[in-house]
Formats: sequence, C-alpha cells, structure tokens
Amino acid sequence: MKIIMLGAPGAGKGTQAKRIAEKYTIPHISTGDIFRANIKEGTELGKKAKTYMDQGLLVPDELVVDLVVDRVQQDDCANGYVLDGFPRTIPQAESLDAALAKLNDKVDYAINVEVPDENIIKRMSGRRACLSCGATYHIEHIPPKVEGVCDTCGKELVLRDDDKPETVKKRLDVYHEQTQPLIDYYNGKNILKEVDGTQDMSDVFNDIVKILGE
Ligand code: ADP
Ligand code: AMP
Repeated sequence: MKIIMLGAPGAGKGTQAKRIAEKYTIPHISTGDIFRANIKEGTELGKKAKTYMDQGLLVPDELVVDLVVDRVQQDDCANGYVLDGFPRTIPQAESLDAALAKLNDKVDYAINVEVPDENIIKRMSGRRACLSCGATYHIEHIPPKVEGVCDTCGKELVLRDDDKPETVKKRLDVYHEQTQPLIDYYNGKNILKEVDGTQDMSDVFNDIVKILGE
C-alpha cells in the first residue's frame, strides 16, 4: 500500500501518517523529519535546507526528489509506505510517478486532510516537537505527560522556528500556491481521498481506515 498524505502545514498529516504506519506496518517517510535530522547533524543538505525552511519556503525540488526516490526503493518499502510532506509541488509528483513507473509501480492513495486556514494558525502555535525522535504534541489537544518533555525519549520539546505565526502565514501562502494544485493532480488520477481534518484525531483516523480497509 503506497500512500501520500496531502494537506496544509499543520493539517495533521504527520499525526495520521504515524498511526497509518503503525496499523499497516509500513514505514512513515517524512521529508520534513529527514531535513530536520540533517540540520541537527550539520550536514551539507541540512545547511542548504535550513535557509529555505526558516523562511517558510519550500526546499528546491532537486534537493528532495532523489532523496525520496532512493528511500522508497529500500527493502523496508517493499510492502508500501506512507509519504508525509512529499510531494509538495507538481514537478515532485511527476518525478515520483515517473520513477515508480520505471519500476512498474504506482501510488495507491493520496489522502487529503482538509483543514481551513483559520484552524491551522491556532494548531501550529500549540504544536510542540521533539527534535530528537520526531514525536509531535499539542499543548491543548495532545499534551505530553510532563510539560516540555517528550513521552517517548525524554528529550526537550520545542516550538519549531517555522511554527511561529509569521512563518506559518508564509507557509500557508506557499501551500496554496505550490502544493494545493496536487489535489487536482491526484483527482485526475482517480486516487484522491478526502478526510475532514477538523475532527478529533481518532475520528480522522477512523475515516482513513474506512478508505484503506481494516
Ligand atoms: P502536519 O504534519 O500536517 O504539519 P501535525 O500532524 O504535526 O501536522 O499536526 C499539527 C498540530 O496539530 C500538532 O500539534 C498536532 O498534535 C495537532 N493535531 C493533529 N491532528 C489534530 C486534530 N485532529 N485535532 C487537533 N489537533 C490536531
Ligand atoms: P514539514 O515537517 O512537512 O512541515 O516540513 C517542514 C519544511 O521542510 C517545509 O516548510 C519545507 O521548507 C521543507 N520541506 C519538507 N518537505 C518538502 C518537500 N517535499 N519539498 C520542499 N520542501 C520540503
């Protein structure tokens, strides 16, 4: 099962992708997490990506496409994967489709988690992230057991630099301009599925399971 998560920044793609990965035993591949890990390790890729991420801009296609195309060909992806945060532009989607077609393969589902912009700004200011293991929380909806500490690995939780309200506004503009066109792109391929992301997280997940099957 090869799944793409679509939706605005903060719509809940990562939250749902983790649950999908667990239920269907497939890897969760988040390009945002890959970039943040590279930034933390101080790699060349991380240094380049950071300059764009800090401004709320997309990292250029050429820095992300090969990375994902290589990743989905690794052994653990043989039974499928859930892509979170990729593709984010039409050229990225076309490159992924072309690479999969060469392998006689294709994406099965593009799940769009729909949340209006006004809800997003609120959600993002409450998001807290563990930069060590990638877990995310929300100070109201999904608080950690101990404030500011990751339940999973015990490291400190932070408000991501790009979750500050000024940057979130920019990211939403970028989303509408460059990423939202993917909804029509996947609709045209008859694999688009829509879920209402304003519901409680478990209800969103139940709707996703109805689409993917038990
Ligand atoms: P994305 O991966 O799309 O950027 P996240 O999954 O990180 O979004 O979710 C953004 C924030 O909203 C996080 O703080 C998360 O805990 C919270 N969140 C996710 N889903 C819901 C939901 N259905 N209702 C309320 N808050 C949610
Ligand atoms: P995310 O964690 O998915 O919200 O991603 C955080 C940031 O990483 C984004 O705002 C972009 O700057 C960058 N990024 C992640 N995935 C991609 C992608 N597929 N294409 C371009 N930039 C990306």
